[in-house]
Amino acid sequence: MTLTFDNSYARDLPGTYLRVVPDPAPAPRLLVLNQPLAAHLGLDLDAGDAESWFSGASLPPGADPIAQAYAGHQFGGFSPQLGDGRAHLLGEISGRDGQRLDIQLKGSGRTPFSRGGDGKAAVGPMLREYLISEAMAALGIPTTRSLAVVATGATVWRETALPGAVLTRIAASHLRVGTFQFFAARGDKAQLRAVADYAIARHDPDHAAGDHPYLAFLDAVIDRQARLIAEWMGVGFIHGVMNTDNMAISGETIDYGPCAFMEGYAPGTVFSSIDHQGRYSYANQPVILGWNIARLAEALVPLIDPDPDRAVDLANGRLESISGRYRAEWIGVMRRKLGLVGEDPGDADLSDDLMTAMAGADWTLTFRRLANEATLRPLFEDFRGMEAWLPRWHARAGEGAAQRVAAANPAVIPRNHQVEDALAAATAGDMAPFQALLAAVQDPFVEREAYMLPAPSGFGTYVTFCGT
Ligand code: AMP
Ligand code: MG
Repeated sequence: MTLTFDNSYARDLPGTYLRVVPDPAPAPRLLVLNQPLAAHLGLDLDAGDAESWFSGASLPPGADPIAQAYAGHQFGGFSPQLGDGRAHLLGEISGRDGQRLDIQLKGSGRTPFSRGGDGKAAVGPMLREYLISEAMAALGIPTTRSLAVVATGATVWRETALPGAVLTRIAASHLRVGTFQFFAARGDKAQLRAVADYAIARHDPDHAAGDHPYLAFLDAVIDRQARLIAEWMGVGFIHGVMNTDNMAISGETIDYGPCAFMEGYAPGTVFSSIDHQGRYSYANQPVILGWNIARLAEALVPLIDPDPDRAVDLANGRLESISGRYRAEWIGVMRRKLGLVGEDPGDADLSDDLMTAMAGADWTLTFRRLANEATLRPLFEDFRGMEAWLPRWHARAGEGAAQRVAAANPAVIPRNHQVEDALAAATAGDMAPFQALLAAVQDPFVEREAYMLPAPSGFGTYVTFCGT
């Protein structure tokens, strides 16, 4: 097996990263390998090479491992230096379609950016990222992908001793809002420009030649992120840690930490143990979209126009457009979920009124069962709001709505109680529940009763943890 690397980031952007090799895993054991993704990438992977390369035990020929520098606002507070503290970018490969893709190991040891951290990751959280990212991909939502998880044979100390693991992540790039903030905060305009030119060449080459390439780039990031967050909202996904270092300029969902899917619809839903203020709650995600993009705009201002006042005016014009652009994406997502053909001026109200009527009911199943009142009704404690809403929907949606709703709304999402059960079993050495759950979430439009049920009432309030 060979991987053909072409490491443009390391080659073109000296001074934005540090060269550092992964820790060699003492006793690697392959837990899961994404053969369909490997095939899509044109990789002919054998398990032995995968186990060795994707644990850090050995390096594939042509890899040039680096840790990337970045900064970031974490829960609103700025850290001028974060960087890859437990990840190594092995390099870039080309997918079948010619797209340049990063291959990164996560959980592969300390780097100069590790600060107090151990550079490691445990089996549970790495399988969690694998599972949720593959679920998102199957739902058609832009995301980094997971190629493998390999247990390292090393022990990771959290509250208890846990088995260590490395995740291999495939991404359109690992450029983040925080990458730009790192150089802007240091006043290093030359390096900031180099990173921006690299990002434009890699993600938005059509904008390179225009009058205002950096403004056009900002605009393209807004487009991608507005679409992404609207898609998250459509499936009830809560990222949980939308810090600026966890927002990729590619528009892919990145860094699956304390993320989870909402079950009963409640706009204030938060799962993360450290999100006390609800900054990254379900309903606040579109607000944080605007907040994070404002940080990107601030970082890009020195490049946007030689006249600082004009640069700020131009950037502000784009920032003011974000909420309207997000709202348009959201209405588009809702039209699809409601099976509405074409556009009607009443669609926004129809969508908003459903949100009111469905408070507390299971997000996923409500949409899935919209066209079938007999199965819809048991999801509700109080069906009166729906009784008023459904005739309006039927009148607007018309013929064929049931099929369109079934095609647009998944039956299966990774349910929190099942994710926890599967990860607990995997941590104890039994991969079977994980494999079964993975198969279900990879095929989310197929009804599999066992994977469609909300958490049993004894499951309690779900809490997720970061940095694990
Ligand atoms: P995250 O919240 O996972 O996106 O990570 C935020 C920052 O903390 C990044 O700079 C990570 O590289 C770093 N980090 C997270 N976990 C660890 C760890 N176990 N060891 C070292 N650095 C870490
Ligand atoms: Mg991160």
